[in-house]
Amino acid sequence: TKALEIEGLRKTYAGGVEALKGIDLTVAQGDFYALLGPNGAGKSTTIGIISSLVNKTAGKVKVFGYDIDSQLEQAKSQIGLVPQEFNFNQFEKVEQIVVNQAGLYGVERKEAKQRAERYLKQLDLWEKRDQPARTLSGGMKRRLMIARALMHEPRLLILDEPTAGVDIEIRRAMWDFLKEINSQQGITIILTTHYLEEAEMLCRHIGIIDKGRLVENTTMKGLLGKLN
Ligand code: ADP
Ligand code: ADP
Repeated sequence: TKALEIEGLRKTYAGGVEALKGIDLTVAQGDFYALLGPNGAGKSTTIGIISSLVNKTAGKVKVFGYDIDSQLEQAKSQIGLVPQEFNFNQFEKVEQIVVNQAGLYGVERKEAKQRAERYLKQLDLWEKRDQPARTLSGGMKRRLMIARALMHEPRLLILDEPTAGVDIEIRRAMWDFLKEINSQQGITIILTTHYLEEAEMLCRHIGIIDKGRLVENTTMKGLLGKLN
């Protein structure tokens, strides 16, 4: 099974910036895939299109076989997205934020509460459940977004620069958590990063995107072989 199939993906923003100039990319179920590239390369645009926050100009995108044009709801339900910017209500309480998210996907309240407990505990946020989100540290807010993204039990977790601005200890803990849900629960993970080290720590496959083109698509081992 393919978690993600992208063919001929193009994006030209209003104003004329050609952010994506024809991307072909396949990610297998269970993979841990890094999309690496410099600022402005097109990583966020790619992720935005997959999660249907950004309209594409041309191309095909399927998520677990569901076409984002003709089967949008099914495609969306497969995906958990952790965006770069904090986009939760800072005045809402931590537990409320994740439980409400599950509600958006029709998860029953009792089940949602159970999942909230599980993911908030796994991400070391359970003690903070009654705190408004604005009182959390940056690393905690990042973890809150991961917990929230998992609440509808997506098969594909997509993270945009998940450890940007997070200190090294917290970064390691986040890495361990992501590795664990990938290997234990089989959740396919795609993340963007501009740290090669992060990709190396975590990922089996890596794509390098530059100026809107996928210039490399290989295994982590293959890439390191080339660099050495
Ligand atoms: P990355 O995530 O790799 O830093 P982006 O996908 O954010 O790259 O950006 C790719 C290109 O598209 C850049 O030139 C950027 O300036 C441009 N871009 C991104 N978002 C928009 C937008 N909303 N409107 C116009 N141009 C944009
Ligand atoms: P910061 O404000 O520097 O980002 P936090 O306040 O978010 O740090 O982290 C508080 C504590 O939680 C730290 O001692 C850290 O080791 C621990 N921690 C962070 N992430 C995890 C995790 N995923 N699992 C377990 N413990 C974690």
